[in-house]
Order: sequence, then structure tokens, then C-alpha cells
Amino acid sequence: GDTKNDAYVAFEHVQKSYDGVSLVVKDLNLSIARGEFLTMLGPSGSGKTTCLMMLAGFETATHGEIRLDGRPINQVPPHKRGIGMVFQNYALFPHMTVGENLAFPLEVRGMGKDERETRIKRALDMVQMGAFTARRPAQLSGGQQQRIALARALVFDPKLVLMDEPLGALDKQLREHMQFEIKRLHESLGITVVYVTHDQGEALTMSDRVAVFNDGRIQQLAPPADLYERPENSFVAQFIGENN
Ligand code: ATP
Repeated sequence: GDTKNDAYVAFEHVQKSYDGVSLVVKDLNLSIARGEFLTMLGPSGSGKTTCLMMLAGFETATHGEIRLDGRPINQVPPHKRGIGMVFQNYALFPHMTVGENLAFPLEVRGMGKDERETRIKRALDMVQMGAFTARRPAQLSGGQQQRIALARALVFDPKLVLMDEPLGALDKQLREHMQFEIKRLHESLGITVVYVTHDQGEALTMSDRVAVFNDGRIQQLAPPADLYERPENSFVAQFIGENN
């Protein structure tokens, strides 16, 4: 069918300015399919996080429209968007146990104890952290904390998961392991993932398609192999070539 109508997420002529003068996102058009793993890759300041923030509803587009499953995103109340988020600084509550960290957002929504416990157990099992419910974040390694942050994003059964440099704080070996774990979850849960990184290797190993950002624009949108074999301009050729 028409790919535009099949899109789960669609940016349509989206522009964003924070100061009313300079555009940090410039006429962005991007359709993300249901179940796709789409990575926004690019140097610092290229507008990736801003795109994620608009999708999450923390920022609004200055011009253009963002659609979620066909509906303008600002017409979907935040709690009905089915979006889970994972960021680099895990933002776990330090004074709460792992179980309490996951229970808290569910409690806020008024979910009963039995359903909370079922969901928490399922989410912790997904990231193989079922045995750590009673620990506090400080008693966990960086990788374990990041797994808990992932479980907290999954506890609502999201259809779309937004990840902004989720592995940036981890060492190389752990990062590679977590890349594998995130891919495994993506495949087994059938969720749509929008992943932000400035790490070319990470983007190329994990993604169905990569959107290469520079200066507020997508320079190329393609499956990883195409970026290597057929870079569309010198920026992409150079950026993909770095550190690889
Ligand atoms: P990084 O990898 O460093 O996070 P990025 O590609 O995610 O970079 P953004 O964080 O989207 O880029 O930033 C794009 C531009 O917008 C930058 O010039 C940044 O300084 C500016 N910017 C981001 N957030 C704000 C804000 N809240 N207020 C003003 N300017 C902002």
C-alpha cells in the first residue's frame, strides 16, 4: 500500500526553532513504519534529540505536523500515545528500589497492585533482571541500571520506544552486549524503535534504516549497507567512514 498511510510515525515538513529565529530542524520529512528500527545518526547539535522531544511531546514543532498512527500527535493525549522512553542518564529514583522505580509511574496512573506486580515482573524478566527487585540503583552496575531503565520503558506495553543515546555511558563491551539485548527485545516484542546516537557502528549494526542528520536536515535515509555502498553526498561518505 501507500507507504505514507502505513507509516506509524510521520514527520511532515517539520521545522523547529527554539528562539524564533534560527531553525534547528529544517523541513524534516520522515515516515517510520510500524515495527521498524529507525536510527537518527549525526553529529552533536544536528537536531536528533529535538526530533525525539517533539515525538515525545516535550517540544512542539514550529511548523509542520507529526503524526502517530495517522493522527496529529498533539491530538493524542500523552498517556494514550503508547510511547516508552529511555535516555542516557537513566534517571532512576535513587531512594527507591528497582521494584518501586517501576511501580511509581503505574501508581501515578492509578493502576491496582495486582496488575502492577504482574507488569513489573514481566518487564523485569524481559531484561533478565527479575532477581533485582529489592536493590537500589546505587547497588547496580551501569549496565544493570540501563536494563532497569529499559524495563521501566516497557512496563506500559509501549508500541513505540524512543531511545536517546541509551548506551552512551557504558563501556564498549557492555555497549555491544546491550545493543544485542535491545535488538532481541525489538524483534520479540514487535515494537517500533526510534533510536538516537552519534555512534556510526551502533547505528549500522542495529537499524533497519538510518537517517543521517546534519545541520537540521536528513542528509540520507537508507538501510545501513546502502550508506556504505552508495553515500549520497560527501557529508554522509565522510561521517560514515569515521571510526569504522
Ligand atoms: P546531541 O547529540 O549533542 O544531543 P543533537 O543532534 O541531538 O545533538 P539537539 O539536541 O536536537 O541536537 O540540538 C539541536 C540544536 O538545538 C543545537 O544547536 C542546540 O544547541 C539547540 N537546542 C537544543 N535544545 C534546546 C533548547 N531547549 N533551547 C534552545 N536551544 C536548544
